[in-house]
Amino acid sequence: MFSKKNKEQNKEKEVLLAILAKIQNPITGKPLSSEPIEISRQEDGRILVKIPFAADRPAQLSVEAQIRTAWASSPLKKEKLKIEFPPAKKPANPMGIPPAKRLSSVKKVIAISSGKGGVGKSTVTIHLAAALYKQGFKVGVLDADIYGPSLGKMIGQEGKAALKIINDKIIPYDFHGIKLMSFSFFLDTGQAVVWRGPMLGKALEQFLFDIDWGELDFLLVDMPPGTGDAHLSMAQLTEVDGAIIVTTPQEVAVLDAERSVNMYQQVNIPIIGVIENMSEFICPHCSNTSEIFSRGGGSKLAEKTKSPLLSQIPLTLSLMKASESGSPLTLQEKTDDDTSSRVIEAFQQASSALQKLLAVNTP
Ligand code: ADP
Repeated sequence: MFSKKNKEQNKEKEVLLAILAKIQNPITGKPLSSEPIEISRQEDGRILVKIPFAADRPAQLSVEAQIRTAWASSPLKKEKLKIEFPPAKKPANPMGIPPAKRLSSVKKVIAISSGKGGVGKSTVTIHLAAALYKQGFKVGVLDADIYGPSLGKMIGQEGKAALKIINDKIIPYDFHGIKLMSFSFFLDTGQAVVWRGPMLGKALEQFLFDIDWGELDFLLVDMPPGTGDAHLSMAQLTEVDGAIIVTTPQEVAVLDAERSVNMYQQVNIPIIGVIENMSEFICPHCSNTSEIFSRGGGSKLAEKTKSPLLSQIPLTLSLMKASESGSPLTLQEKTDDDTSSRVIEAFQQASSALQKLLAVNTP
């Protein structure tokens, strides 16, 4: 009995130390595994991880989020962790300016995320932006999907874009009135980029603060899929008002999406709601629907995150073609095509729900 318990505890320590070896102390830059970190089992069954160094709150949150993210994909993920720090240091900032700066001319910064790629996150971002724009809002979109920026293609601007710089600020790309910025505007078509941690944070910072966004009601940020450095950088760099999680209806997609949700919770970004994409296929010939990807994933995720299901977007040929040809359906003046109008309605529903939840009035 004794030895079984001992074995389990050794396993926990082994897994945690492997995780801590890959995470840096934000102050010294050394791996956390080289610190005298205490790992023990609490009476309530949780594994207590005591981190000895005093850091400010954002640094603590970042360390905690990294540990929890790695733990969530470890073989012991079902075990609950409690992570403790000494009292947070006040930020080295006597004026009390919060470390995450607010983008002062933007009313709401919203991260759009998904558990994995290919669920239609970018399609949803650009269509939701266009739906908000059509309802009279000033909208910007930042493609922070640095590993596979696809926004350019979706608006028919593949490869580098000619962008103006005025007073040291980049003027964003004007897409029918929506302000857009993507890493793809600086890359040749198909060019890949390898990002290292600090470079990534710097690039995101420039994309947020060195761009002349002007007055915006909404800035939608198309995040890379999954969880990782870019999300933590975003949370540290600027105040994000909330996240929308995009999922498809299948069970596995929901499991992936839950990881994103956990990560946002760790960095104190509220989940505004869930958008289920590819909810049902609408046949372009007979308009009959079929649930080819199972059903219910969006509502299940909404229930788990205690946030609303903002909308269910159907899978249609018209939406696929619109994304491929660079002309979002929600920007169209009018359409006689039944499948397109159902897609437009679904995005208008998401846009209205978002305005209500964030208490932003129609201009
Ligand atoms: P992600 O950003 O999650 O990687 P994308 O938005 O790039 O996904 O979408 C992946 C592909 O799926 C694109 O070709 C897009 O046109 C298509 N797609 C996304 N959502 C839909 C939908 N509801 N109906 C039809 N095609 C869709």
